[in-house]
Amino acid sequence: MAKSYCRGCGAEIIWVKTTAGKSMPCDPRLIPFRAVAGGKERAVTMDGKVISCELRPMRGGVTDFGYVPHFATCPQARKFSKRK
Ligand SMILES: [Zn+2]
Repeated sequence: MAKSYCRGCGAEIIWVKTTAGKSMPCDPRLIPFRAVAGGKERAVTMDGKVISCELRPMRGGVTDFGYVPHFATCPQARKFSKRK
């Protein structure tokens, strides 16, 4: 996993290789999540599975830990989606 910095906000990010073979920029901290079918948030596990989930679940609901895609937390994410 290569460390890098977001070009938008300068935050430290890591590139996690997903099982689909793509590298996804993620926040470097592992976050607890609860896997939820159809959940609207995403986490990437350490072995690269992208999980639909609820991040930081309330008490007792943690099923695993994973990385959060940086575009979900980046204050500059809107700029990215506009830029081609
Ligand atoms: Zn950023």
